[in-house]
Amino acid sequence: MKHLIPYLQDDQKAADYLRQLRWPDGSKCPRCGSDAVEPRERCDNGLQRCNCGHCAVRLGQQFAMFTDWTSSIFEESKLRPLEWLLVMGLWQLTLNATDIAAAANIQERTAQRCIPTWASTSRSSHRRDGASTSAGLGATP
Ligand SMILES: [Zn+2]
Repeated sequence: MKHLIPYLQDDQKAADYLRQLRWPDGSKCPRCGSDAVEPRERCDNGLQRCNCGHCAVRLGQQFAMFTDWTSSIFEESKLRPLEWLLVMGLWQLTLNATDIAAAANIQERTAQRCIPTWASTSRSSHRRDGASTSAGLGATP
């Protein structure tokens, strides 16, 4: 968790961290996979917008924008990048959903929904040794 602290200061830093998890080698277009993308202005919640020139040409548009969260598990969530990162960090400390909800000041139901989602997508890099990913968290509805 300690390594997360520098990123827990604002949404932009949190978004930067989450982007590195998704694209360790740099942002790629979620539609075509091209890495020839051009950073644009950030969204209000700190997410980086990018334009894919390849898709813009293909679609006959001036721009083909995407954000850090386009086509990811985060896209449908109402949580901000900072809240996501906090939930992830707390989950790594093996807190349960009730504690995480209290610490992150979010609904317990939200915590219950987010945590298994995160757990299922982070097995490769952030697996907790020997811990059950569903311990005490309840099933996703
Ligand atoms: Zn593209």
